[in-house]
Amino acid sequence: MKRAVYPGSFDPITLGHLDIIERASRLFDEVIVAVARREEKNPLFSWEERIELAGQATAGMERVKVEGFDGLLVDFVRSRNAGTIIRGLRAVMDFDYEFQMALTNRKLAGELETVFFLPSEKYFYLSSSLVRELARAGGELSCFAPPVVVEALKRKFSR
Ligand code: ADP
Repeated sequence: MKRAVYPGSFDPITLGHLDIIERASRLFDEVIVAVARREEKNPLFSWEERIELAGQATAGMERVKVEGFDGLLVDFVRSRNAGTIIRGLRAVMDFDYEFQMALTNRKLAGELETVFFLPSEKYFYLSSSLVRELARAGGELSCFAPPVVVEALKRKFSR
């Protein structure tokens, strides 16, 4: 059983994240989308909301499950008997940070491997923060976020 964990803030989950999840689920028997609590980053959506939205957005995907985690990523990955951490790489902006994280996780847990996936080029510049900004400004979101997220953002900003 090859199990992988895809960690992130998912504030909110976007079509870029879903593209990575789809690619990963072709290579692993199970992909756990692990929603980090990260409340110190003042997310737009609460931890519970981010978990719920990720769950709904991946509902049709076999082999994919969503869980929340708090604390050290490598502890969570080990507790789920997974051997792989999945991350996505966009344009050069991700590289330094991802490199640092992957090497730190390797120091902490040498048996785990970080695997990077490239999204379809149409998602190369897409981020959760872009989606949040667009939503705040009332922009069209359907090319960037799944329908459940589009609806949740509309509700959030219509208040
Ligand atoms: P974090 O706060 O951990 O960076 P994110 O939810 O922003 O959490 O991202 C989780 C992972 O998904 C990161 O590896 C990030 O680079 C990747 N990612 C985010 N958006 C995209 C995208 N459009 N294409 C590919 N990877 C992406």
